[in-house]
Amino acid sequence: MIARLNHPDYDRWATQIRATGGCRQPIHLRGKIDHYDKATGQLLHRYTTKHEPDGVLRVPCKTRRASRCPTCAETYRADTYHLIRAGLVGGKGVPDTVTSHPTLFITLTAPSFGTVHTRHEKNGKTQPCHARRNAPTCPHGRTMSCTTRHSKEDPRLGEPLCPDCYDYTGTVLFNALAPLLWKRFADSVRRHLAKQGGLLLKDFRHHLTLSFAKVAEYQRRGVVHFHAVIRLDGPGGPEAPPPPWATADALTQAIQHAAGAVTAKAPAYAGQPERILRWGDQLDIRPITMNGDLTDQAVAGYIAKYATKAAECVGTLDRRINPLDNLEAYNLRTHARRLITTCLDLGKEPDLADLRLADWAHMLGFRGHFSTRSRHYSTTLGDIRADREHHARAEDITTGRLPLFDEDTVLVISEWQYAGKGHSAGDALLAAAITGTPSPTPQHLDGSRP
Ligand SMILES: [Zn+2]
Ligand SMILES: [Zn+2]
Ligand SMILES: [Zn+2]
Repeated sequence: MIARLNHPDYDRWATQIRATGGCRQPIHLRGKIDHYDKATGQLLHRYTTKHEPDGVLRVPCKTRRASRCPTCAETYRADTYHLIRAGLVGGKGVPDTVTSHPTLFITLTAPSFGTVHTRHEKNGKTQPCHARRNAPTCPHGRTMSCTTRHSKEDPRLGEPLCPDCYDYTGTVLFNALAPLLWKRFADSVRRHLAKQGGLLLKDFRHHLTLSFAKVAEYQRRGVVHFHAVIRLDGPGGPEAPPPPWATADALTQAIQHAAGAVTAKAPAYAGQPERILRWGDQLDIRPITMNGDLTDQAVAGYIAKYATKAAECVGTLDRRINPLDNLEAYNLRTHARRLITTCLDLGKEPDLADLRLADWAHMLGFRGHFSTRSRHYSTTLGDIRADREHHARAEDITTGRLPLFDEDTVLVISEWQYAGKGHSAGDALLAAAITGTPSPTPQHLDGSRP
């Protein structure tokens, strides 16, 4: 800290840090941008990182994960919010007539893989977890009952009543196959709608579009479920309305049918039979309205919040697990460790190789994207980012930091090299103070804790 504060280029360093907005793990880039006159080849302007502090430019990491960088995750959350909301009420290139299209908010859950500690409330009062008179005893001698009224923070929530009975294999296979289940679900909704409209499936897209934005959430038991906004548009997207027969009721029916019908198969391995996985019975379908129970703002806020979370809220690690990692050395919940171990063990089975369970053990087997949208849902995160960068560039030109050239007559050549990531311990504290962000827990540059 002292060395940084006393360094002659401290002000420039502080400016860089402010420009990253308080990113906790900025990317260090080394390189240059040259502006040449296209006609004469003359060098008009050069920016190089040679004269920057430590010879590098620090740029935000742009992660979506709040556990890694709260600042960049907040940007991602806000962008996702605007993108989801534009798909509900219009804006950012989406016409506001989209509010008249049938739009539902749905939750697709996983089936049960064994009884876990849960918390439910009735009239504002916490109920006992699993109170059973004459509760059965499991083969491991555990009584399948729990009369505790669990608090919201109780670490036992989501943990099985009997870990030896709990179906860890089913859980990770479900996580691994959930993206395929979703794809089949969306296909089945289209097929069912086509049937209702008397269309051949191949003609579906000439009449209507199924647009959606979805987000994966980990339940405390370590299994993913999906929340999604599903909307019916005309052919080609939100500019045109869907045909009159494609109503919210028709969409609801198609969703109910598809959620119950689709399956995904995990292959047989090592003497174990193949397994058919499907969605759980709990399907929630709610209309999104501008002023009712479930508003556009609430839905956009909900999806954006989950888009910045990963599996770490279940108590697992937020990075890949190395085969040599000693899992005992990490502060993992027993349930999370069992799920990870199951992934690592099943990952060795040649018949399950396609599921890449060992690579995705830290995600408890799920290798899908956390937050995805169909092509026509609304604008894209890329467009929102480009808008912001365009705005920043315009500001750099007006304040004299970038030259103003006619883009047609200038050739811009940039060369960048990755030169590292993160802050030293002293820089991290200074950066937090400069940007008014919370001081990070000390950690090494590779993210491990000292
Ligand atoms: Zn960051
Ligand atoms: Zn309990
Ligand atoms: Zn048991």
